[in-house]
Amino acid sequence: QKYRAALGSKSPVLVLVDQSHAPIFKRLQDNAKRGRIVEKPNDNVGAVFVLGVTQASTFNVKANSNVESLSLFNVAGMIPGKSREKEFVLFSAHYDHLGKIESVEGDSIANGADDDASGTTAVISLAKYYKQLKNNERTLIFVAFTAEEIGGFGAKYFSSKLNPDDVVAMFNIEMIGKESKFGKNAAFITGYERSDFGAILQKNLAGTDFKFHADPYPSQNLFYRSDNATLAALGVPAHTISTDQIDSDKFYHTVNDELETLDAVNIWSTIKAIALSARTIVAGTDTPKRIPKLEAR
Ligand SMILES: [Zn+2]
Repeated sequence: QKYRAALGSKSPVLVLVDQSHAPIFKRLQDNAKRGRIVEKPNDNVGAVFVLGVTQASTFNVKANSNVESLSLFNVAGMIPGKSREKEFVLFSAHYDHLGKIESVEGDSIANGADDDASGTTAVISLAKYYKQLKNNERTLIFVAFTAEEIGGFGAKYFSSKLNPDDVVAMFNIEMIGKESKFGKNAAFITGYERSDFGAILQKNLAGTDFKFHADPYPSQNLFYRSDNATLAALGVPAHTISTDQIDSDKFYHTVNDELETLDAVNIWSTIKAIALSARTIVAGTDTPKRIPKLEAR
């Protein structure tokens, strides 16, 4: 807590750290060496931590910091609505992943096949599908976000470019590449109880084998861990659809999240279920309830 307070300080601070905290100090030191990604570099503030000093009357600090700017972009497409052009339905996933991570048996590339190429595949497939149908009354926006893994920057930027009140619903799709804990033909919706989005989808699946469940991992706080979070905080019924067994997925965020681990039938059936269950929202005959807006932080 004190560490965070020091880092968030508005003026430069010097913190003397007791030897008893040496292991944590070492860990934070390693983290600091790796650098971090921020939206805008802030060069006025600094916190210096010194280990094992009990008293100091003077000190010198020598430090180098390299600032590298990254340009990031989302990829989006739109099919204007036939009659309700100002009412948006979003279908999204993130196309970024972790990049290079610590090497395991010579492999250092985290592919992110499930997280979230599977979701991106769904967004592309849905875009193709609705383009063929050509009967959407509401405007459909398909977006592949960047920089989800490093803090949801792509989704945050996107959310600032439209009026959230115009967004009727957001289908964010994350990790649908492996069978869910409910077995085949099932997926879960994060924040199911926060709006009637899930109930509408489920109603539209009546007569099929597919079922949407409430999030079985509430303690993982998944609702606020993906790209739906920004728009949800702004009042949009924005939910994430997933089939991942996050509590036991041994490939999650490792170099082994590879194509071979994916179950194509699971991806296909989930995409089909999303298309089917979204139809009344796309047609404008169902409108999910808004989610209470979060207070400005
Ligand atoms: Zn993800």
